[in-house]
This record gives sequence, C-alpha cells and structure tokens, in this order.
Amino acid sequence: MKKTQLFTVWLLPLIVIGGIFNPLLGYLVVAMMAFFLSLSLLKGRYWCWNLCPRGAFLDIVLSRFTLNKFVPGIFTKQWFRWLIFTLFMGFFVFRILHAGGNLWALGAVFVSMCIVTTIIAIIIGVVTKHRGWCVICPMGTLQEKIYQIGKSKKDIFSNQ
Ligand code: SF4
Repeated sequence: MKKTQLFTVWLLPLIVIGGIFNPLLGYLVVAMMAFFLSLSLLKGRYWCWNLCPRGAFLDIVLSRFTLNKFVPGIFTKQWFRWLIFTLFMGFFVFRILHAGGNLWALGAVFVSMCIVTTIIAIIIGVVTKHRGWCVICPMGTLQEKIYQIGKSKKDIFSNQ
C-alpha cells in the first residue's frame, strides 16, 4: 500500500455513496479522468498504482477478502481488454447522449458508471485477485495505450 492511497481512497465512498445524494459529485470523476489521462502520457499507469481511489480501495480493503485465485487468462488478452473497453465506452456514450445536456443527469451518469464498475471490481476482486478488475479496467487499458503512443512519438523525435 502506498501512502498516497490513504488519502485518495476516501474519494471512492465520496463518489459512490455521496454521488447518490448529489450527482454533481460525478464531476470529480471527470476531473480525475482529465488528470490521469494527461499523466499517463509520461507516467503510464502511475495513477493506477499510486492514486486511483478504486485501486486504493482494492489494495487497502479488498485485499483482506479476496480468495486470491488466478485471474482468468482471457483477461490478459489484448482483444478481450479492448472488447471490454469498447463495450464500456459504447454504453457510456449512449448514457451521456441520453442525459441530453442536463448537468445533474450527466453527473449521475459518471456516478452510476463508477458504482457499477466498483461492484464489478469487488466481485472480480473477491473471486480472483484483489486487483483482478485492474487487468481489464477500460481506464487502465486507455492509460497504457496513451503511454505507448507518447513513447513511440518520443522515440521518433529522438531518432531524428
Ligand atoms: S485499472 Fe482502473 S480501477 Fe484499477 S487502478 Fe487503474 S484506473 Fe483504477
């Protein structure tokens, strides 16, 4: 467990519980996404292992309840990870469009996506390893890709 996680872990209940009463808390997710997607360009998945509130929850809390079984091999396949990403983003965009520009409804979309993915992360974390979800988490996949793109661009410029 990282010291930073002791601070960031509290953002998870704030969003998934507080967000039920005040959907505007969903905008914290937007702020975090903007931050970690920018960070990933240089630092890859630094966010995941040091700052992510859900990752912190999985490390601090769920690690005590996991059955610690093998993560299914399919989770590590690129095609499967991108399939999960596509399904997640498709559903996400559908919900955003459905919110019709209403600020509260939009906030609620982020809160509910956070609740749903947290429930999935808990189930996977209990039956496999506590970080099992992080292997297929769409945001983890995206950070990894952004880092690879950033690195290849850097390599191209340094070879010129
Ligand atoms: S993989 Fe997803 S849930 Fe896991 S730490 Fe990274 S962003 Fe958070």
